[in-house]
Amino acid sequence: MKNILMAISGPSGVGKGTLVKALLARRKDLIESVSCTTRAPRKGERDGREYFFLKREEFLSRIEKGDFLEYDEHFGNFYGTPKSFVKEALKEKSVILEIDVVGALNAKKAFPECVLVMIVPPSEEELKRRLKGRNSETDEEIERRLSRMEYEFSKKDEYDYIVVNDALDGAESKLEEIIDKEKNR
Ligand code: ADP
Ligand code: 5GP
Repeated sequence: MKNILMAISGPSGVGKGTLVKALLARRKDLIESVSCTTRAPRKGERDGREYFFLKREEFLSRIEKGDFLEYDEHFGNFYGTPKSFVKEALKEKSVILEIDVVGALNAKKAFPECVLVMIVPPSEEELKRRLKGRNSETDEEIERRLSRMEYEFSKKDEYDYIVVNDALDGAESKLEEIIDKEKNR
């Protein structure tokens, strides 16, 4: 069995974080990649755990050196997946990237073996319900996240697998099946 790189994408609120957390708790053969960012740490965030926090100049020089598997700019800050982290982690475990559609497609360009999985909600109504239930965004932010959903879904043909996050257990089992199948390929 080999170690694989798997990117998990899907609209905000679909349950990516919940699913990845459950997978990591169950399987010791998986690790989540830690990205680099130029944004300031939020309260409670620790360097090397949520992100590697870099100064802008350092991030730019690492782009020049080709240190990122992929990177992007969101809200004026850079975010990127460090090649070195992924390469080292792959020696021991399969690596999960929880990353948006643009990042995942760029990761696949740089690393064609990367397995792309899109998580979709059972319905748009259920996605709205989950986003509202999480209570972490304003109504305006929820609308912005929902409007981005159409763009994300438009890329689904470029994905290797689509998993419906209906019942959590079912979606988690499906992800495990995919991981096992790809590890044995
Ligand atoms: P994401 O990381 O994709 O933005 P989260 O993991 O934060 O999404 O999940 C959004 C909300 O939906 C959370 O409140 C979570 O508990 C809930 N949730 C996740 N998966 C399911 C599911 N299968 N059924 C019902 N609620 C879910
Ligand atoms: P936040 O600042 O809220 O942690 O993240 C902001 C955005 O950056 C989210 O949409 C998140 O998915 C994205 N992001 C986090 N890490 C990476 C990364 O390594 N690459 C890319 N392309 N986007 C990332």
